[in-house]
Amino acid sequence: MTAIDKKLFKKLYVNKFLEMHGIELKEGSNQQKYEALGSLVRDYVTRTWLKTNKKYNKTGEKQVYYFSMEFLLGRLLGDSLLNIGIRDVCREALAELNISLEELENLEQDQGLGNGGLGRLAACFLDSMASLNIPGHGCGIRYKYGFFEQKVIDGKQVEVSDNWLRQGNVWEKRNANKAEIVKFGGNIKVEENNGRLSFIHVNYEPVLAVPYDTPVVGYENDVVNTLRLWSAEAVSNEFDFSSFSRGDFLQAIEYKNSVESISQVLYPEDSFYEGKMLRLKQQYFFVSSGIQSIIRHFKKHGGNILELDEKVAIHINDTHPTLAIPELMRILLDEEGLPWEDAWRITENTISYTNHTILSEALEKWPIDMFKNLLPRIFMLVEEINRRYCEELWSKFPGQQNKIANMAIIGDGQVKMAHLAIVGSHSVNGVAKLHTEILKKKEMSDFYYLYPNKFNNKTNGITHRRWLLKSNPKLTKLLCDTIGDGFIKHPIDLQKFESHLDDKGILDELAKIKLQNKQKLAKTIFENEKIIVDPNSIFDVQVKRIHAYKRQTMNCLRIMDLYNKLIDNPNLDISPRTFIFAGKAAPGYYLAKNTIELINNIANKVNNDPRVNEKIKVVFMENYRVSLAEEIIPGTDVSEQISTTTKEASGTSNMKFMMNGALTVATLDGANIEIRDEVGNDNIVIFGLNADEVLNYYKNGGYSALETYNNDPRIKNILNDLINGKYHSDRDRFKTIYENLLTYNDEFFVLKDFDSYLKAQDKVDSLYREKDTWQRMCGVNISHSGIFSSDRTIEQYATGIWGSEVIYKNL
Ligand SMILES: *Cc1c(COP(=O)(O)O)cnc(C)c1O
Repeated sequence: MTAIDKKLFKKLYVNKFLEMHGIELKEGSNQQKYEALGSLVRDYVTRTWLKTNKKYNKTGEKQVYYFSMEFLLGRLLGDSLLNIGIRDVCREALAELNISLEELENLEQDQGLGNGGLGRLAACFLDSMASLNIPGHGCGIRYKYGFFEQKVIDGKQVEVSDNWLRQGNVWEKRNANKAEIVKFGGNIKVEENNGRLSFIHVNYEPVLAVPYDTPVVGYENDVVNTLRLWSAEAVSNEFDFSSFSRGDFLQAIEYKNSVESISQVLYPEDSFYEGKMLRLKQQYFFVSSGIQSIIRHFKKHGGNILELDEKVAIHINDTHPTLAIPELMRILLDEEGLPWEDAWRITENTISYTNHTILSEALEKWPIDMFKNLLPRIFMLVEEINRRYCEELWSKFPGQQNKIANMAIIGDGQVKMAHLAIVGSHSVNGVAKLHTEILKKKEMSDFYYLYPNKFNNKTNGITHRRWLLKSNPKLTKLLCDTIGDGFIKHPIDLQKFESHLDDKGILDELAKIKLQNKQKLAKTIFENEKIIVDPNSIFDVQVKRIHAYKRQTMNCLRIMDLYNKLIDNPNLDISPRTFIFAGKAAPGYYLAKNTIELINNIANKVNNDPRVNEKIKVVFMENYRVSLAEEIIPGTDVSEQISTTTKEASGTSNMKFMMNGALTVATLDGANIEIRDEVGNDNIVIFGLNADEVLNYYKNGGYSALETYNNDPRIKNILNDLINGKYHSDRDRFKTIYENLLTYNDEFFVLKDFDSYLKAQDKVDSLYREKDTWQRMCGVNISHSGIFSSDRTIEQYATGIWGSEVIYKNL
């Protein structure tokens, strides 16, 4: 991109402001100033965007399309400026105009089109694909309402709709001329012409899919890729009201509403399957429009459909976009007229699939009747795929009827999306070593036996550009001053920092930076939650979706236990701690909502008890989202990664925290294992059951929560505290939590791991007293975090799955 200096920037900005708002800069509101800046950056990016597209069309490089129902982008202004390479120039130029860049950046609404880890992963991947010069684009849904906004009222979560487009969105470009039609319902008429059957879809409901494109800027490399999000509209927006009879009119309105509902709202369930027709509609809607537009573009630029798999890779993020498989088959067979064998080979070679969870409640299975009525042609194709696949199974496993029934794509009255995804793609990957091993050996072992070469691991990552360079400028500066800026393009070079950790001056700098970040976080906590916290206390943080398997309840129980100990012994010598939580519960998930209420009631009790509140404070921060994560993580001392072993496929916040110099307290679950392998046992605090022990209990039983309760007076006391009115005047308030732990035998081994967890926390306490040792551990974590950059992950996807060339330009 053309270099820009302060003077030129100021001139362009002042002009842009005037042109956009028709008033002088000094009369404008901050919102107007933000809009002008966003718009200027967008214009600036647009030129490179066009150039990138032209280049892709000319070179015919393989294009990668990442299909995902969720993209949790957060804010875009700061990261775009950073990646273009003009954030500092822009900050200084605006300062000369008496404008604070940070203030304008903070006005941007988060683009919250995702629930949590899965959607954030997709966003990190877009950033890494662009930054590694990979022609990789996103495809998803432009939800009118993103992930709900969380308010806490009387300690309880209240959901407010996220009207993120209210003030407009400077980043998106509506491309009505690239709209596609998606067909729902109706019937299939079969005709025979010249010995070939053709399938004609009639009486369907057409939906117009309009793409909105957002530029994805690579880091200082002149690459701008595209995130294409589809919006559902009525095929004709113009109703001639007079020409409708009353019935037609109402029908037309009904049609319009039903169509627009498709891209109206993001389902707020994380790791949970919602068997609603509208959800299936959303899936087919974006997959069909995405694939149609890919093929249209491919053919327009002279592509030979028989070589599609050499020029296009389509990746599906979890099973949500699995309909990409039958939809691509439909186009190749019905529209391109290919024979089945060619169509199938191309489809399988084009598509690859990432599995994200082994939680059974997350497995997508659609009732046959719903599927067939909504997608009649797609259902016929799935039936035929299944018929051919089952033939293969019969020859591979003769006589093993049960096994074949279990492995079939259609069975028990349902279409099993994970089975279709495995059968129709050439690669199936898990997201961390342990997760992939569990897929291969347990969850999907029959499929692994059938297709051993499809299975592989790609451990998740995070973009260090957002999660270090942008969110922690002070640490970034220390790193640049100490080891040079090579790590920015080669994050693995962060390792060079380790050899500086014997330098007391560096350790003191690390401590100083952490303190400053904690002071900033303390200020935000006060502004948002009206709670005063001490930046010199340990900031002990668990922020993520609220879910039983993530065990926020275990964190609560240890705070309740510590509170009891402090009341019993006011002189108890502990390092003061501030316990910080944040996270949203799915609106229909009672246990998770109850957990939020418990956290807030513990906070209320503890924070208002003068006997303890010099030593402990508890904070629940409202409305967890990407921009809040960016504030919390740099100011964290202790990262809580305490899921029941085997349940967290990877986790990614664990990586964000280590990269920002927090010490991790963790079970050996997901990517925590790889973090442990990187930093060594001395630089992480591990506790709890290991995977074999957990799997053994699930398989053979032998765990009694009641026995644990009876044998441990601490547990007895705190569980009784849940129901004796101590934390809520309504004694039944937390009964669900109590019963899950005791009556229903503690499915997630909270009580089983409790003693080990407390010991881990005691260890943290004593480590924190050795200031230099502590800073050294934090430094080791930073030094070893480079491998968890999503640049490493994407390079592995590119070379190991997509077959794209990874070109290191500008390095
Ligand atoms: C990283 C991130 C997550 C994922 O957190 P985990 O602890 O890995 O589940 C969820 N939400 C937001 C906003 C994030 O930034």
